[in-house]
Amino acid sequence: MAKCKFCEMFEDIKRIHNQNRREGFSNKYTCALVSETYRGEKFRGRTLYGGMELNYCPECGQAIDWEAKGEDDNGRTESD
Ligand SMILES: [Zn+2]
Repeated sequence: MAKCKFCEMFEDIKRIHNQNRREGFSNKYTCALVSETYRGEKFRGRTLYGGMELNYCPECGQAIDWEAKGEDDNGRTESD
């Protein structure tokens, strides 16, 4: 089954972060509600609300696969 755009982008981002990770740094992935403001047709800005737990893909609804492609560093600890 083909991955949705979000899942595909997320896999790419995790791979890029893991390839370029500097010692002592890690990434934690969360989700946010994005509000875009327009005046008429003209885009005026974007605001992010949140940093909530990312459990499911917002596009296709599949559970987030933290272990995808052998990558295990998602910034979470065992207690998360
Ligand atoms: Zn998806």
